[in-house]
Amino acid sequence: MIQQTAVRFGGREVDGKFLFELTGGALALDFVNTLDERPGGGIERLTTYERFLEWSVQSGALPKAATEQLSRMANRAPGSARSIAKSARELREIIFRLIRASVQRTAPDDGDVDALNVLVSKADAKRRLVAVTGGLAWLESESKVSLDMALPRVVQSAVDLLTDPARRSRLRLCAADSCDWAFVDVSRSGRRIWCDMSVCGNRAKAKRHYDRAHATIDLPTFRGDICEG
Ligand SMILES: [Zn+2]
Repeated sequence: MIQQTAVRFGGREVDGKFLFELTGGALALDFVNTLDERPGGGIERLTTYERFLEWSVQSGALPKAATEQLSRMANRAPGSARSIAKSARELREIIFRLIRASVQRTAPDDGDVDALNVLVSKADAKRRLVAVTGGLAWLESESKVSLDMALPRVVQSAVDLLTDPARRSRLRLCAADSCDWAFVDVSRSGRRIWCDMSVCGNRAKAKRHYDRAHATIDLPTFRGDICEG
């Protein structure tokens, strides 16, 4: 079997930082995709709090302005930062299982739903609805900077996605055996199967080409007498 290294435009080290590939189409899905090659045991991209912070800023979960302060806070409290990074990875796997259940049209695990409910309640306790012209808006009652401040935004994104039947019906997991990246299929045909055509799509194309080139063709044994008139 042909082995090719997937080359993502993101998903690589650049100047000591990690450049994440954000092709999921929703914050929660880009978060889920920070574990690469999940079916084979996974390649962890959120190895440290700093990596989680880099992802939070690149994905838009946090404003860039928050980076310096959070980075300093993490340096002052390395134990807490490690614990938040661990919680982030655990949350990511909860969201992944919920996404997979949705894609497979199966009931999600009760424990995962309960865990998400706890996080939603915590986030709701820190905000309240206020009137704005023509509608309502959420006002964060606690604007304090905290190491885990990106997590409620990821939770909100997952909840928005999973409670919306139209968007949920467009949820996909990449068709490549080794990938499992999650994405929202916004193509007109609704038949997108690869997380990224230039990565998994091309890899599958190369494999098909290889398989065709090496296929054993069983030709029928030529019998001369058939041709004799
Ligand atoms: Zn893929």
